[in-house]
Amino acid sequence: MSEEIKASEEQALDQTPKPWYKRLSLTTWIFIALVLGVIAGLALQGTPEIADTYIKPLGTIFLNLIKMIVVPLVIFSIIAGVISLEDVKKVGTIGGKTIAFYLVTTAFAVTLGIVFANVMNVGADYVLPAEELSYEAAAAPSFIDTIVNIFPSNFVQPMASATMLQVIVIALFFGFGIIGVGKKAKPVADFVNSMSDVCIKIMHYIIAIAPFCVFGLITPVVANNGPDVLLPLLWLIVVAYLAMIVHMALVYSGLIKLVAKKSVLGFFKSIAPVMGFSYASASSVGTLPLNMSCTEKNGVSREVTSFVLPLGATINMDGTAIYQGVCAIFIAQVFGIDLTIGQQITIVLTAVLASIGTAGVPGSGMIMLAMVLQSVGLPVEGIALVAGVDRILDMMRTVVNVTGDSCVANCVDAAEKRKAAKKVAA
Ligand code: ASP
Repeated sequence: MSEEIKASEEQALDQTPKPWYKRLSLTTWIFIALVLGVIAGLALQGTPEIADTYIKPLGTIFLNLIKMIVVPLVIFSIIAGVISLEDVKKVGTIGGKTIAFYLVTTAFAVTLGIVFANVMNVGADYVLPAEELSYEAAAAPSFIDTIVNIFPSNFVQPMASATMLQVIVIALFFGFGIIGVGKKAKPVADFVNSMSDVCIKIMHYIIAIAPFCVFGLITPVVANNGPDVLLPLLWLIVVAYLAMIVHMALVYSGLIKLVAKKSVLGFFKSIAPVMGFSYASASSVGTLPLNMSCTEKNGVSREVTSFVLPLGATINMDGTAIYQGVCAIFIAQVFGIDLTIGQQITIVLTAVLASIGTAGVPGSGMIMLAMVLQSVGLPVEGIALVAGVDRILDMMRTVVNVTGDSCVANCVDAAEKRKAAKKVAA
């Protein structure tokens, strides 16, 4: 009898009533925490330092725990995933499909952002402040450097600094190595498989207390973003949020229905805790453990979640791409610069690259915005205008980023399962 069946039978026999706090699902708790956090934040708007000093550490502690587990979780689950595929070529086809989905959806996302920003005249009513703007853009690495940097020169350092793309490369090589050595590497394969289970168990312990993290993260954000910060840029926020919601409703619903052939409602229900958590944490990498757990619960195989989601948390940023498109048009309109169609296409291409280069941590999309602005000669100082509300935009773009990862995982999984079924039938 499998472990799972045994566990569910034991659970059915156990008639003891659940304590009240266990009767509500994690999703409900996360949303209760979000609402309570907003209320507490509003109450503390006059004294945001209280929220920063006493409530924020609650969020920081839990985020630290998640960061602690995310590297071993990704390493062991990717190696275990590669070993279970037993074929380097199969890893290649899943990888190819995943990257194709990621690139196409991201290009669509920026285009949508640019269209919304133009049609809704995102910067039209904004009056430039009298004081001089200053923003020091960080030097963006060149395209070639970005490619070179995927390959680590050291085994330990990428793990210590949580450089996820390099961590993924290390895990893939070890997976291929174990397949290549075969029988002799069985003890290593067994070790990796059980370590993967151990990491997943630890991740579940940490996820169980995610609502505290949500409360601890959202309260200081609301306390620090009063109406005087938000109001002048309200239209920018509305346009960006709307484009992001439409992207999710159109693209993700469409892909889930047509490619994954699953219930759209079921998908959004399964991903709801992930959306709530990513909104509060503004970190794709921080949300990765929860995303892996929820996407798996929606029927996606572990071989797919363990590879597609860590890769997505690192390179697939549709929300960030929409934000960069909207902000580029906003800055152009505010500074009275007309962009040609050619320039807008350049923005699409650079925003796809910039979003790939964006790390899945809070605020990194704004740093990469400089690259998009520079590509068409827009003033980088314009970033200073949007910096004040970056966190509010960051929260929503992270929701889109992680939802996109899960959506692609569902599609790749369905395509792989159809291929396997065809093979069996042939
Ligand atoms: N915070 C985003 C994420 O983690 C990245 C960004 O700043 O756009 O996905």
